[in-house]
Amino acid sequence: MGTKRMIIKMQSATSNVNVAKVFQMAEKMGGKARFIPYYNGCLVMVEGITKTDTVFSGLPGVAEIGITESDFPLSSIELTGGKRSVFEIVPGLSIGGEERIIMAGPCAVESREQILEAAHAVKNAGAHILRGGAFKPRTNPYSFQGLGTEGVALLREAGKAAGLPVVTEVMSPEIVEWLEPHVDIFQVGARNMQNFPLLKALGKTSKPVMLKRGSMATVDEWLQAAEYILSGGNFRVILCERGIRTFEKRTRNTLDLNIVPLVRSLSHLPVIVDPSHGTGIRDLVAPMGMAAIAAGADGLIMEVHPDPGKALSDGMQSLTPLDFMHFMKALSRLVPALSPEKREEQPSRAATAEMAEIH
Ligand code: PEP
Ligand code: MN
Repeated sequence: MGTKRMIIKMQSATSNVNVAKVFQMAEKMGGKARFIPYYNGCLVMVEGITKTDTVFSGLPGVAEIGITESDFPLSSIELTGGKRSVFEIVPGLSIGGEERIIMAGPCAVESREQILEAAHAVKNAGAHILRGGAFKPRTNPYSFQGLGTEGVALLREAGKAAGLPVVTEVMSPEIVEWLEPHVDIFQVGARNMQNFPLLKALGKTSKPVMLKRGSMATVDEWLQAAEYILSGGNFRVILCERGIRTFEKRTRNTLDLNIVPLVRSLSHLPVIVDPSHGTGIRDLVAPMGMAAIAAGADGLIMEVHPDPGKALSDGMQSLTPLDFMHFMKALSRLVPALSPEKREEQPSRAATAEMAEIH
């Protein structure tokens, strides 16, 4: 907090000449301007001259000007005036709106049979997206590391066969360009939340990014990590809470559901929850998944394995296809009980307070 920045929203079809005029004015005033692609248009972020915003409002092509002291001005709900971001993952499937988006599948792609079986099972139960790691970040170098590029091909094949978009983890910036055409969502794992070269590379891609919270990251660090992706021009970022490390040893992590309504009041980005890594214990996954949705999450990511006892990673926290089907049935009864008004109430009130401070 502290640095004042001006966010200038340009009209959606404005010319390069008009954008250049904003840059020239910023320079003339001794400020520093930064160009940010924003959906079909662009933003210009200016630092160092916030008192003179009136000179910018008269320039051609300028739609709106806001001044902020936020450390994450693009992720902040100030940017959208309190409105939640709703964006398409693939044509016809959006996140951030009324529908809760469920991503499910095994921790890792292990074989053709395994991922195909998982894909059909989660599709039949009503999942929207197939998960499956091909590049696995394992604590121990001798543990199964994933099938790599072959795993990506198998995931894609299984997604196509079941009619599901796919999400898979990317660990290094070098692989981003190769992976982009094969995935529908890039997953950034908890261990890579502050892999800044990776975040920068993902900011330049055209696919949505699911950014997991680091197990020792604060909410502010997490939102600033998201800011790396947004500032590159990729605004389709989904935040994912997956548990933090605490003194509690009975569970793998402590699932921090506080942050669901909190982050929804601070940021316009959709928030989902991973109750599998958040608990590490199969029997806790369904109750905590329900709790996450009740808290206002926009969706879930869950591990489902055709035969969890034989899983090469995270079997202890993986649901069977039958468990998952029961969970999805229970969820379909919960969701109608959560009225949209209730869901929106708290975030919009907090947002209004924040906006009042700025203007
Ligand atoms: C995963 O989703 O399998 C995973 C490795 O998750 P996290 O990064 O949250 O540990
Ligand atoms: Mn896992």
